[in-house]
Amino acid sequence: MAGLRTPRPTQAPVGVRAGLDLGGTKIQAVVTGRSARVLGAARRNTPTRGGPDAVVAELAGTVRDALAQGGLDADALRGVGVGAPGSLDPLTGVVFQAVNIDGWDAPFPLGPALSAELGVPVSITNDVSAAVEAERRYGAGRAFRSFLGVFWGTGVGGGLVVDGRLLHGRGSAGEIGHVCAKPGGRRCNCGLRGCVEAYAGRGALEERARRESRRRKTTLFDLMRKRGRDRLTSGVWLRALDAGDEVAGDLLDEAIAALGVGIGSAVTLLDVDAVVIGGGLGERLGPRWLKRIEKQARAHTFFKQPPVYRLAELGDMGGAIGASLLVR
Ligand SMILES: [Zn+2]
Repeated sequence: MAGLRTPRPTQAPVGVRAGLDLGGTKIQAVVTGRSARVLGAARRNTPTRGGPDAVVAELAGTVRDALAQGGLDADALRGVGVGAPGSLDPLTGVVFQAVNIDGWDAPFPLGPALSAELGVPVSITNDVSAAVEAERRYGAGRAFRSFLGVFWGTGVGGGLVVDGRLLHGRGSAGEIGHVCAKPGGRRCNCGLRGCVEAYAGRGALEERARRESRRRKTTLFDLMRKRGRDRLTSGVWLRALDAGDEVAGDLLDEAIAALGVGIGSAVTLLDVDAVVIGGGLGERLGPRWLKRIEKQARAHTFFKQPPVYRLAELGDMGGAIGASLLVR
């Protein structure tokens, strides 16, 4: 497993790789050596103004921070991999649209622009694919030939490894968040109705909590302010649950039920060896709720031999570690 190592300048590795995970709120960078060992890491906020140009400058800055954190020289950098949200073309490095990033609504050549900035080759891939690939090679998926990765965070992302390989389909395979959990149900951000994400995604949960807070008592938004946050983070949900908040409990019950329908249906179709749960909410709630998710999913699984349910192992650096694997 990859872990942070204290830098040892006397052993500066030749040819390190950098991986970037570009999210709607933060940019995570890692610099990795052999076997994806993390040699340096850094994190910055995703710019909220300035569009793709500002994002490129910040991505480059985060890579430089990670190199510095690891005590590494910029000359050691061999290449950079980026996991980006939204639809993209890995061959040209163009990200068509990144809905969670302000001002990014037209195609932008992220790969070439970042490559010009850092002076090394840059490859891009889908952010969830990167995280799944990292779990497949170095995390919770490494013992399995086939598994379904479910990244439960702001949205609900997913990726499929079948017979040892990440399944791409026509580019979008594994979208567990947009599997239907309830026909004719809530409208999802994607335009469909009843998607798993419309019930379980942190964004959707927050929207519903806001609506509920007008007619029911909830501590969620007080906790949010007390912790100096401007959104209902996974940590805020966890505290509200611990405080016995009924709105939080009800909404998360519904979230787990929707995840169960989606995961159970996918398992029935694919008969994977394992289900690996990660993402911000998965990480925070997973340790105590993995069994609940499994139970709900089993209620929608056709056969008696269910797969193994595991938590993702690489945490919030998984996406960046997976992106670094793009560098050959
Ligand atoms: Zn959807």
